[in-house]
Amino acid sequence: MNGLEPLTGEPLALDLLNTLPYAAQGPPVDHLADAAGLRAWLDLEAERLPADTAAREVSPDDAAAVRAVRTHAALAVAAARRGERPPASALRGLNEAQLAAPAVRYAQWQGDAVVATVRRTGPLGVRVAAALAEEVVGLLVDPELGKVRECEADDCTLLFLPAHPRRRWCSAARCGNRARVARYYRRHKDDGPQGHRPDGPGQDA
Ligand SMILES: [Zn+2]
Repeated sequence: MNGLEPLTGEPLALDLLNTLPYAAQGPPVDHLADAAGLRAWLDLEAERLPADTAAREVSPDDAAAVRAVRTHAALAVAAARRGERPPASALRGLNEAQLAAPAVRYAQWQGDAVVATVRRTGPLGVRVAAALAEEVVGLLVDPELGKVRECEADDCTLLFLPAHPRRRWCSAARCGNRARVARYYRRHKDDGPQGHRPDGPGQDA
């Protein structure tokens, strides 16, 4: 991992928030700043998004629609994590994003049985924004929201839902090792050039 790829693998709503600009390891990067960024992120999340968002061309408007939902999500989730009432405009934004492309169970006869496929209609960005808004609302009403943590690295704002209570970093490769190396050099900075350093900063698991 080079620190430039968006973090994925958390609940989809957190993965969305983790595309926001943050400063760890360099200048802040917005992974959804443009159409190419959104396309790359949709590819990373392909397994968790509706199949009809795969391998389609993405426009700047699509990216703008997803960024708009992300803004509402960030405000709503931040307030809810503090146990506070989210801004009305943020909740309205999440609801309106879903209303713009509601999920419908399309019934179709296929050979010898009726099959149902969940579909949304509209431009790709509007459909993706609706699906993501639904995920965000799911997180807002989930008791697990209280367990969501921000990475402990000073310059990192990535969010994660720890499977283990001792998890401190968004990822070991991204921030865990950096923190370990920084700790090591802080501990040994007075050793001088001949200082004996048998343990080395090593690697976090
Ligand atoms: Zn981090």
